[in-house]
Formats: sequence, C-alpha cells, structure tokens
Amino acid sequence: MNDACCTSCGSKDFESRKVEYLYSHQGKYLLVPDTPAEICQSCGTIYYDAKVLKEIERRFFAIQSHREEPEQYLRIPTMAFA
Ligand SMILES: [Zn+2]
Repeated sequence: MNDACCTSCGSKDFESRKVEYLYSHQGKYLLVPDTPAEICQSCGTIYYDAKVLKEIERRFFAIQSHREEPEQYLRIPTMAFA
C-alpha cells in the first residue's frame, strides 16, 4: 500500500502483517491463516490486497464445490457410526 492514505483516518503509516482472515458467504465461513494485510498504525483499520481477496474467494468456492479441501479438513471415520 505505497502512497496510500487510510480511508478512515488519512494516516500513511501502515504495518505489513499476516493475519487470520475470515471469509464469509451465505452463512458459510472459511478461515484463512497467514493472509497478508496492511494495518493502519493510527486507527487499526485492516486492508487487504484485491488479488489476495480474489484468491481467497476462488479457494472458498473450490472448497464448497469439493474441488479442493481446506488445510484443516476433518474427516469423520466411517467406522465411528458402525
Ligand atoms: Zn487509519
């Protein structure tokens, strides 16, 4: 976020950090760890790169349609119900 001002407070002081991003869509959630973000040092507003958000969205729909599995996918053993 070079040369950009915070839209909330106008500060130019940003810190690059990795945060947990919670994507939600129609009551379904995808928690994405290590999401690169820029955090305003004066008011704490978090900004994400549009490319990063696009990739999260792509993964969310891939997981929803079972083309990809989330990192922490818990498979319930079929034996548990036998
Ligand atoms: Zn700010």
